[in-house]
Amino acid sequence: MDPKLWPARNVAEFAYCPRLFYYMEVEGIHVPSSDTEEGQRIHRRVDVPSATPPESEQDRDAAELRKVRSLTLTSERLGLTATLDLAEIDGSVAVPVEYRKGRPRQVYDEDGEVIGYESWPTDRVQIGLQAILLEEAGYEVSSAAIYYAAEKRRLSLVVDDALRVEALETFEAARTCATGSRPLPLVNDSRCPRCSLQPVCLPDEINSLRETSETPSARKLWPPRDDGIHLVTQRRGTRVGIRASTLRVTEADGTKTAEVPLAGVESLSLVGAVQISTQALHTLADRGIPVAYLSGAGRLIACVDPLDAVSADTRRNQVRRLDCESDRVELSRALIVAKIRNQRVLLQRNGAASARILDALKTS
Ligand code: SF4
Repeated sequence: MDPKLWPARNVAEFAYCPRLFYYMEVEGIHVPSSDTEEGQRIHRRVDVPSATPPESEQDRDAAELRKVRSLTLTSERLGLTATLDLAEIDGSVAVPVEYRKGRPRQVYDEDGEVIGYESWPTDRVQIGLQAILLEEAGYEVSSAAIYYAAEKRRLSLVVDDALRVEALETFEAARTCATGSRPLPLVNDSRCPRCSLQPVCLPDEINSLRETSETPSARKLWPPRDDGIHLVTQRRGTRVGIRASTLRVTEADGTKTAEVPLAGVESLSLVGAVQISTQALHTLADRGIPVAYLSGAGRLIACVDPLDAVSADTRRNQVRRLDCESDRVELSRALIVAKIRNQRVLLQRNGAASARILDALKTS
């Protein structure tokens, strides 16, 4: 992450959960899930750049309402950048519009009846920063909108000082967080069960090991890729290509055999005389999906193992530590201990080991 220029999207991640933000933007750990894939699909649809907004004030006054898609704005002064899904520009007045795949927050009355809808805090922060960037670019911004695709509902927000202060304070808190250590997990929070990072974060396990003011309750946390597909193609002459977010498998005679959404694919194995297009290979690599080439007899010939998203800074610091004699043994020991602990946690979670084995792992 360029410390001088922060994407507003990262600040919104912080508003959602500081620990999630830290994993993703400081440590470079991303775990895709069906939710994140669907969110990206919706953004791809709306992120088709359109004409640039009018440059001069004169042009702005003369312009009629224009819809500018995928508009990137940057403020060196604030150290902030954002790509707006849509900006509705009417002369010198602009309305930022953000698209969300989910639903807005429901507002209930005392009897538990839904009486209205409001945007989520994380969406408020992101659209607030977008409004500030538009203002920095010389536009007047008094309202913003968030479109929730699951309900086809557009919510309007007033852009006032309260929203600006909330957005900028969250931005400042995210910057401070990025320079410190990883935040602790949320406690008994409804965000965790659906969070794609929970297998890495282990909120309930960590909270049960530390003292919190709230008693953590162990919940069933769902592994995000439990239903992942390991795709194997082995018929001679088969071709694997890509279309939108789907892998397309075609026979030698042009018959379409399968269409598999990428969101569910964990790996691809090509056995024997099977072809794959360069575009498909690039898309799979972008998503961290490995591809194995095997001979017709099933012997592994080569693997395309995508580079992960760990930042250059993290890699550089890791290599520096490994170069240091005195740190090597300590690091290796810590890694082995962490791996054994992790295996113990997985065994506990799946209830697949006796108390004797768990005790042995604890003391090993
Ligand atoms: S599992 Fe919970 S605490 Fe951990 S990153 Fe996700 S939302 Fe944050």
